[in-house]
Order: sequence, then structure tokens, then C-alpha cells
Amino acid sequence: MKASGSKMGLLAHCLYWARDDVPWPDDPPSDAAKLGSWYHAVVCWMIQVLTGTAIEGAQKPEPPSRIGDANEWTPEDDARALCLEYPNAEIRAEAAYVYSPRGVRFLGYDIGRDYGELAPDEIPCSLDVVILDGARAVVVDWKTGRRENTEPAATNAQLLFGALCVHLYHGALNVEVQLRFADGWIDRHTYDAFDLMDYQEEIDALIFDASGASTNGYPEPRPGIHCTSKWCPARSTCPKTVESVPDGDALVLAPDAVITSPEHAGSLYHRMLAARTLLDRVDAAIKAYVDEHGAIPLGDGKEFALVDRSEWSIAADSPEQIFDALDGSLTKEEFAPLIRVSVPKGELEKAIKAKSQPRKGASDWRDTKAKFEAAGIVATKVTQRHRVRKAQ
Ligand code: SF4
Repeated sequence: MKASGSKMGLLAHCLYWARDDVPWPDDPPSDAAKLGSWYHAVVCWMIQVLTGTAIEGAQKPEPPSRIGDANEWTPEDDARALCLEYPNAEIRAEAAYVYSPRGVRFLGYDIGRDYGELAPDEIPCSLDVVILDGARAVVVDWKTGRRENTEPAATNAQLLFGALCVHLYHGALNVEVQLRFADGWIDRHTYDAFDLMDYQEEIDALIFDASGASTNGYPEPRPGIHCTSKWCPARSTCPKTVESVPDGDALVLAPDAVITSPEHAGSLYHRMLAARTLLDRVDAAIKAYVDEHGAIPLGDGKEFALVDRSEWSIAADSPEQIFDALDGSLTKEEFAPLIRVSVPKGELEKAIKAKSQPRKGASDWRDTKAKFEAAGIVATKVTQRHRVRKAQ
């Protein structure tokens, strides 16, 4: 089976993609994925340095060439904050395990994705950080993506699977799981031994079903919103995805066509996601080609290229500094209405939490926000957008 710990949420919805005979396209990593890998590598390296477990001569990983949003990330500080929170525990980065209904094997620390030969019923699992503290353990997953696109800690199957491995291998009775985001936000949940025993039964049943033993054959695709929301690795080649795309009626509404029911709209939505998946794959392949070979001609004197984008902004210590630099271009009266004082919310939140006692960060930040609300200096803009949410 081709499942791994990071895909346990998807495995609960569909087993087809995990079949050994289903190919996964070898797509190039996106810029966001490269940045995420770099963040993880720096955090891992820093934890190893702080805990004295780094390989001799290990250097801080270099960032990818396009750093973008990652300029504001502070992976070294994030690693330090984690280590400070657990001064007396054993903290290890990049722990790898293999689960099967026969038990859990430990593969080692910092082995990458080199799991070796696995039996059909074995599922490997890499954990960003494992903290061992007697009967209690903590499993940490660092996240660089958007919070709203991440399954919360309390329902996150990847973390629950990691907690199960740690519970079974290290004997921890309570396992806390944490999502630690690059913007400083932390989401936590604790499982006890009974929760983990229940989950073990579910996983063993899934492994049994994935073997095809319960269906007299191999599992077939079970399409749904999970295909894209849980990043199925086979979504651009899965027969169900591919067959849904050429459905002209579903994808191309004639000028006078209307959507006739919620079910019709829902069906169109799924097909649109499938089509977008295939086009995203083409988009990524073209960009990877440009990265390697340079600009590609598009005709009409145009080309598609990788170009630098710079944004101009002014950052000064005081309005006077800006006024002086204007050097008479505007009078004081003309300049005064342009002055605004604003503080980036994310940076303020990070600063408050950095000063907080362990586990007090979220409540300190809530108190700070309440003070700002009371002072009447918070600007809240409510906009509407379409997005997927839990049915109500
Ligand atoms: S795309 Fe959907 S139906 Fe197809 S294998 Fe993936 S999860 Fe299953």
C-alpha cells in the first residue's frame, strides 16, 4: 500500500489512490511547497542544534531562490520557543515510524523519506517533532500554509496517526498533538489511551479494506470533495477525475443555461475542481519548464517568463522623517491627511505571544485584542467570499 501518515485523512474517504498499481504523476514541487520544505528543514536543523542532536558540521539549509512570503517567517525563533516550552523533556526532530496491525517499528531520526522496503500492510509516518516526557508525549507538525486550509488539531488524521505511533512505540499514555503555524498560531489537542485504542481499530479496518480482502478485489475510486481538499496524489490521473472533465454539459453552460437545483450546482462544483486539478498540473509543468529553460514564446511579440516583482513602500520611524525626505514637495498641510498609523496584526500577535508564559499566548493575545477594541482603534472590515465550510 502506498499510504503514508500525511495522507491518513484521505485514506478514510478513498482507498483507490493507495493501491500499489495506481500511478502517481511525478509533478514538480510548487513554489509554496519548496518554501514549506525549507521552513521545515530550518526548524529541524535548529532543534537539532539546540538539543545537541545535530550531525557534526550540519549547516543551516539555504532558502529557495524565490522567498516571497517566507521573508516574514522566523523558523529559528519558532524552534527556540518550542524547546523553551519543554525544558526537561527529550525533544527530537524528524522521527520516522512504520505502523501495521502487527505493531509499530521505529525507523530513526532525520532519515528523510527513505523508509526502505515495506510490507503491503505497513504505513510509514514522519513526524516533524516528537517530545517525550514520561507518560506524556507531544507530536508537533509545523505548517506554513493557510490555517483555514488545515484540518484542526482535534480532527487532524495525520496527527492522530502520529499520536498512535508514539503511544504504541514509546508507551505514552497521553499524547498532545500540535499544529504550529509559521505565523505563530498554535492549535493543540490531547488524546488519551482510550481515544488511541479506538483509532487503532479504525486504522486496522482501513488496512484490511485496502488489501481488497473485504471487497473481493481492489478498492475502486470514491470521488468527492476530498479529491482536491485532501490533495489526493493521484487526482490528475484518477479515472473518475479524468472522466468527469470532458462532460461538456457540466462544465460549459450555454449562454441561456441555468443551474436547476442544489444537486446540479454541487455536481458542477466537483467537476470544476477536477478540471482545475488537471489544468493546475499543466500550469505547474509549464512553470517548471520556464524555470529550467527560460522564457517561452507566446507569439505576437509576447513571452511567458519568470520576472522579478518589486513593491515600493515607505517604512520610517516617524512622520517627520518622511516629511523631511519630501524636501518641500508637499506642504505640512498637504502631507498631514496622508499620515496613518497602523500595526501589522500578525507581527503584533507574534510579539505578544513571544512574551507570554508557556500556554498563555492565545489568552494574552485575546486580552490584547479586547483592549484595542475597548480603545476603539480597531478597524474591522467584513467582506463576503465563497468558500467550503461544514454543512449547517
Ligand atoms: S481523485 Fe478522488 S476518487 Fe480518485 S483516487 Fe483520489 S481520492 Fe479517490
